Amino acid sequence: MDLRVIGRSGLKVSVLGLGCNNFGSRIDEAAAAAVVDASLAAGITFFDTSNSYGEGESEKFLGRALQGHRDEVVVATKFSSRVGESPYEVGASRKHLVAACERSLRSLGTDYIDLYYQHFPDPETPVEETLAALDDLVRAGKVRYAASSNFAGWQIVEAELLAAARHGTRFIASQSEWSLLERGIEAEVVPACAAYHVGVIPYFPLASGLLTGKYERGRPAPEGTRLAGGRYRDWLTDAKFDVIARLVDLGAEHGRSLLELAIGWLLAQPVVPSVLVGATRPEQVTANARAAEVRLSAEEVAAVSAATAQES
Ligand code: NAP
Repeated sequence: MDLRVIGRSGLKVSVLGLGCNNFGSRIDEAAAAAVVDASLAAGITFFDTSNSYGEGESEKFLGRALQGHRDEVVVATKFSSRVGESPYEVGASRKHLVAACERSLRSLGTDYIDLYYQHFPDPETPVEETLAALDDLVRAGKVRYAASSNFAGWQIVEAELLAAARHGTRFIASQSEWSLLERGIEAEVVPACAAYHVGVIPYFPLASGLLTGKYERGRPAPEGTRLAGGRYRDWLTDAKFDVIARLVDLGAEHGRSLLELAIGWLLAQPVVPSVLVGATRPEQVTANARAAEVRLSAEEVAAVSAATAQES
């Protein structure tokens, strides 16, 4: 498994990261441990969770599954999503951030977080307050690096310029939805990150599994899958299946699977250090790790871009 540095930082991560948002919601602790073990076996060093996933269980499952491996991996978690009823259990204020960090450290069973994300922008807290609180956590040895998630392009630039003016902790990466079925961040977020050497870490790279090919037009989603149960019926549109059909044809021409195109195209983007993929079973991790070895040619990248271009 290749490693890459994130943006303008010295933090190296595996090109495939394990997303742990299924832990404690769709899968129990034993299944989560099997997924983590398969990830370690495949050479994955990058594990992504949040204090909000599985109502807090995801951090606990991940921490226990990584016991004995803590120094060999990069553990990323997030703050700012609502984690309780009180007005102090959400957002990016210094008050909540410091409390959230202490809680995540306990849940993860570790004394430091490698990469600490602000999960969502908080319009009620000035970003300079958040950056200053992160500085303190870094100095206290509780956090190594900070990052943002779901920020608009202008918010990424604002945070970068404020951090530079303060000579303090900066956001080394931005985690955003990006896949061959959702390319909206290419308009503002990707150019902002490229200009300021901030890494872009895509989430939902498989569009919740749609880009694995296991869902078929006009057929019910296979039982037990994330999109089963009718809740996503309106989301499984003809327009998406049209794009997938074009990708499957293109893949057949080049000897690439849909999974290889979905992961390989993101890894071909210069701003992307790692692609975060979630899994419910060890075999999925193994297949995703194999796909993450593929390096698409410039011609293949251009063809995939053209086949998935979205109207702006
Ligand atoms: P995803 O990677 O697009 O989809 C993952 C799902 O696809 C799996 O749970 C699994 O679902 C299915 N799958 C994965 N590999 C497969 C394979 N090889 N063959 C068949 N099916 C496969 O979406 P995601 O896991 O939701 O997103 C990745 C990570 O990004 C999350 O875990 C989380 O850490 C992060 N995230 C961050 C935010 C944010 O706001 N910052 C938001 C969402 C996610 P089933 O087996 O259940 O069908």
